[in-house]
Amino acid sequence: MGHTIGGSLKTILKFLAIVLLVEAIPFGTATVLTELNIQAEFREARENAQKTAYLLLHNFEQTVEPIDSLLVNVGNALSPTATPLEVYDFLRTLSIPAPIVQLSVVDKQGLVVATNLSPPSGDPISVADREHISVHLGPDPYAGLFISKPVLGRISKRWTIQFSRGWYDHHGELLGVIVASYNIFDFISFYSRLRIDPNSLIALIGTDGIVRARASATISFGENVGSSPSYQTILKIQETPYDQVSGIDGIDRVGYYVRSERYPIVMLVAYDKAYVRSLADDFRLAIWITAAGLGLILLVLTYLALNYHRLQQKLRASALKESARQREVHFLEAMAGVPGVCVVHVTADGSRQIGDTSGSILPELIHEYVASPRFLAATRSLTRPQVSVEYFAKDGEEFEVQLMIAPLEEIDGGARQAATGVRDLVVFAVDQTSKRIEENNLYQMSKLASLGEVATGLAHEINQPLGVIRLAATNALTGLHKGMPIEHMEAKLNRIIQQTVRMSRIIDHMRIFGRKSGMRLEPSDPMEAVDGALQVVGAQLRLENVSISVNGSSDDLRVLCRQDQLEQVIINLLQNARDAIRERRRSVGVEYLGAISIEMSLQHQDTRTPLVSIAVKDNAGGIPDQVIEKVFQPFFTTKPPGQGTGLGLSVSFGIIRDHGGTLTVENAFEGAVFTIRLPALHEAQLAATYQGQASGA
Ligand code: ADP
Repeated sequence: MGHTIGGSLKTILKFLAIVLLVEAIPFGTATVLTELNIQAEFREARENAQKTAYLLLHNFEQTVEPIDSLLVNVGNALSPTATPLEVYDFLRTLSIPAPIVQLSVVDKQGLVVATNLSPPSGDPISVADREHISVHLGPDPYAGLFISKPVLGRISKRWTIQFSRGWYDHHGELLGVIVASYNIFDFISFYSRLRIDPNSLIALIGTDGIVRARASATISFGENVGSSPSYQTILKIQETPYDQVSGIDGIDRVGYYVRSERYPIVMLVAYDKAYVRSLADDFRLAIWITAAGLGLILLVLTYLALNYHRLQQKLRASALKESARQREVHFLEAMAGVPGVCVVHVTADGSRQIGDTSGSILPELIHEYVASPRFLAATRSLTRPQVSVEYFAKDGEEFEVQLMIAPLEEIDGGARQAATGVRDLVVFAVDQTSKRIEENNLYQMSKLASLGEVATGLAHEINQPLGVIRLAATNALTGLHKGMPIEHMEAKLNRIIQQTVRMSRIIDHMRIFGRKSGMRLEPSDPMEAVDGALQVVGAQLRLENVSISVNGSSDDLRVLCRQDQLEQVIINLLQNARDAIRERRRSVGVEYLGAISIEMSLQHQDTRTPLVSIAVKDNAGGIPDQVIEKVFQPFFTTKPPGQGTGLGLSVSFGIIRDHGGTLTVENAFEGAVFTIRLPALHEAQLAATYQGQASGA
């Protein structure tokens, strides 16, 4: 359960990752494009605002210029001694632009002398407290055109900006102030008309930070924006971008400030960012729709590509699997074609023979063996090929079969094995029986060859007891004639019996040469084989004056062998040593003393079974280098025809190998050393072998 949840979660995550990866391309591009677009829109808005601000500032200056000259002209034209009525009449003669709601003349004390609106009345109104008056009258009077904050006119009762200038006589003596009151709403309505969206902003601000006229969604004037950082910047330079949230209406705008070079005035034009953004809405919508479409197409394409890939892989994997299976079958069939070889494929469904081996009993034996619980137990945890020799008995015949059991590599990643718990195996069986028979024949041949050589020694060996027997019998007869006591007769007869026992022992051993070797390996004492060999050739060696010594003991040592065969190997080695000694003696002379030693020992090799080693050494000078590597080849001999067969060592080598041992040769200090090494059997193994043989039979 947990497995499937984890599995599906993994699939979902993988799916999401692919979707994200694929969609990142169109949507990432769209995001970048929109961002670039917005930046471009803002830039354009700022440039627009800059142009508009310059235009409006220019317009403002164009508006102020005639007003300024009007103020100057009025000052020049008025006589310092004119009465208020004369001033009034004069003002009335002037053509005054409509937005100027009032033109006033104020005296040095700040009292209104006359306005163009109504004839002067009895008591004059004081405007001395007004900033646009006091700047001109103070101890340090302002000399230029003063543009006031918005004020509510005391006479006109309207919101106006006061343009004021000092009034001087021809000597430069201050006489008073001339004031033109300009209707704020003239500016505001003009600016309002210019706006492109309700939240666009056009503002006329004095360099004192006080707003003269402000047109946006709401119109206003008189606010102080002097503390705004961007406003502080414009006081220092001619123009600067505007990008901020308004402190007055809280709207985020982008725009431009421009400062007048002639008047203490700043012009601000700015657009609502939301509005600027909305200008490109259509474009962005188009981009996102395109991105979504593209994303969808990509997703579908990816899905198709993945599916195609998966399908391809599946096809390839199954094609591979199929070809691997085909190869396997061809290979096994080829193997099964080799004569004497039987190949069996073992699967969970049973065993199947590969190839045709009709006429052989082998397949039948192998099928029976493969079906046995012994085979199942032995192969359950098999990971590497295993080689073994098995003996089968059928219809009174015995078979020796070499088996190679090889586990097969799973083609589908072990799924089948996991399901059935059984591993596919191939069993190669090679019938060794005929080979064994052949070897046996070869062995018999070599025995016959030895027999000739042994005959000489044997003649001596048997002749001697025969001589003793003859003498004893003659003595007994003489004693009988002479009437010797019965004890004398008894001694002679006992001597005869002793000699016949010795003879029959020798003859017993000679039987090897006429007998076919048994098939079975039996646990045996290796020293017995040495003794047996010495009984056969010992007499002959002594006859030739060759000394023999046996060193080491075989206490507790057992090997699994056919004792007569081991004996034959030792006989071969002893005869070869004797031949070498003979040869040496021929070249060196009789004073050379031939010696053969047999050394028995147990050799331990760390983790593996210890080995019983039987070394046969001589002092005949060893084997020449060019000869030593060929000595085990069949029919290789250096001896004259009639004497050597070249079979002794090759048969010996085969015998020892079949016992699971080795026969090696090397040159020691004095002569050649042939060493037989056989796996040693321990008590436990001994018991096991008996059991195994009992159940196998
Ligand atoms: P054969 O004795 O019939 O020649 P073998 O197979 O027994 O056949 O020996 C092959 C050859 O190995 C011999 O001809 C001899 O040259 C060499 N050889 C065997 N044993 C000895 C030994 N102990 N010293 C020197 N040479 C040896």
